[in-house]
Amino acid sequence: MFGATEHSPTTIEILNLFQERGQSQYGGEAVSQLEHALQAAFFAERARARPELIVAALLHDVGHLLHDLPEDAPEQGLDDRHEALAARWLEQRFPREIVDPVLLHVDAKRYLCATNEDYTRQLSGPSLLSMQLQGGPMSPAEQAAFRLHPHWEAALNLRRWDDAAKVPWLKTPPLEHYAGCVDQVLRK
Ligand code: FE
Repeated sequence: MFGATEHSPTTIEILNLFQERGQSQYGGEAVSQLEHALQAAFFAERARARPELIVAALLHDVGHLLHDLPEDAPEQGLDDRHEALAARWLEQRFPREIVDPVLLHVDAKRYLCATNEDYTRQLSGPSLLSMQLQGGPMSPAEQAAFRLHPHWEAALNLRRWDDAAKVPWLKTPPLEHYAGCVDQVLRK
C-alpha cells in the first residue's frame, strides 16, 4: 500500500514511461505522445468523466510507449495492434473499467465511421489511414456485437477525446496532476 502523499509503484512506472518515451511524435500528428495523452485526459476530465475513464484516456496509447515499431508504421502498411498491447499491460495493473475502453478504442473508431458520416469527415489523414489497416468501417453484424460489450459507450467517449487530442500547444494540467488520478483509482 502507498500513503496519501506518495505515488503507487504503478504510478511511478507510468511517470517513467512518459519521461523516457513521451517525447516521441504521436503517429504523424503535430503533438508528442505525452501531449496527446495529457490532452485526452484533460478532455475526459472536462467532460466530468469518472476517474477510471480519465485514467483510461491518459493511458489509451500506452501501447505506443511499449513497442519498438517506427512512428510511421501505418505509412508502411503496418497495424501495430497497440490497443491489444496496452490492454495486456493494463490488465495486470487496473480494473476492466480502465482496460476495456482502451482495448476497444480502435474498434470504436470503426464503429463511429460506420454509423456517423460527420465523424468520418472530421478524422485526420493519419487516423483514416490507420483505420483502413485496422479493418475499415464495421459491418452491421460487427456493430451489433460491439454494442454488447459492457464498456462500449465509454469506448466511444474515449475515442472522441482521443481524436480531439491533437492540438499543438494546447495548455493542459501537468502529468503530475493525472498521476494523482492514477493513485486515486488504485487506492479504491
Ligand atoms: Fe490516441
